[in-house]
Amino acid sequence: MKIIDNIKELKEEIKKLQGSVGLVPTMGALHNGHKSLIDKAVAENDNVVVSIFVNPIQFCAGEDLDKYPRQLQKDAELCENSGVKIVFAPKVSEMYQEDKNNLTLICPPYSVVDKLCGKSRAGHFDGVCSVVAKLFNLTKANRAYFGQKDAQQLFIIQKMVRDLDFDIEIVPCPIVREKDNLALSSRNKYLSENERKIALNISKSLFEAKRLYKEGALTKRAIIDNSLKLMSDLDVEYIEFVDKNTFVEQDEINNNTLVLIAAKTPETNTRLIDNILLWE
Ligand code: AMP
Repeated sequence: MKIIDNIKELKEEIKKLQGSVGLVPTMGALHNGHKSLIDKAVAENDNVVVSIFVNPIQFCAGEDLDKYPRQLQKDAELCENSGVKIVFAPKVSEMYQEDKNNLTLICPPYSVVDKLCGKSRAGHFDGVCSVVAKLFNLTKANRAYFGQKDAQQLFIIQKMVRDLDFDIEIVPCPIVREKDNLALSSRNKYLSENERKIALNISKSLFEAKRLYKEGALTKRAIIDNSLKLMSDLDVEYIEFVDKNTFVEQDEINNNTLVLIAAKTPETNTRLIDNILLWE
């Protein structure tokens, strides 16, 4: 496995590869959620590239860019043991020659960013799409793997690929959870012991919502009330219901409903997201 930190060398190594290329874009601090994407990519491609890059242009002012966990050595070991061919871990200056307001960006439309995470994180998805497009160009990947944990991100990337005719297949991967259902996230490292218990109420709300829906006759209002009660120790940013195929907000829930939650923990102010399909 090669660890590459510059674009020139990456391009040279990509040229040498034979067969298909699978790309797994990450910000590092790899956990079993990332590993599930990597394993799928290794199973489905001749070569796998994992990018590890804490992308500054997708962070808003006041967010956790500086304290985001960085552990390249450990991440590289996980990649090596998983059969990855190339880890691409560039410095910020290698990826961006200029600052954000002087870069050509890919900006998804308001119809998809003016809701959910895009609402509180202005410009976040411009940063995500722009870095992902660069990685698609650099790696010439045939497939790229994204987690359903970041459901809005996955939807927006799929749209970008359709809208701009990228020649790549986007492979969605299911959410990986701890035994107690907490969705794995690099940001879980921030949580105190007490906060971890409190954070469990996010997935609990979602699984409760699904159970209640499957039992029948539940309204959106009833699910919201139940969830907010469960999450009373969290600062809930949103609990939203969208059609899984269009990401349009729903007034009435149905078998296509995706329920999404973002909430902050009370001590470390860690922002966590999770989601569930009511029917699957
Ligand atoms: P990140 O490093 O947080 O930017 O995530 C990189 C990729 O891993 C994204 O496509 C995420 O959706 C995916 N991912 C993160 N956590 C999980 C998880 N718990 N289960 C599945 N995929 C995940």
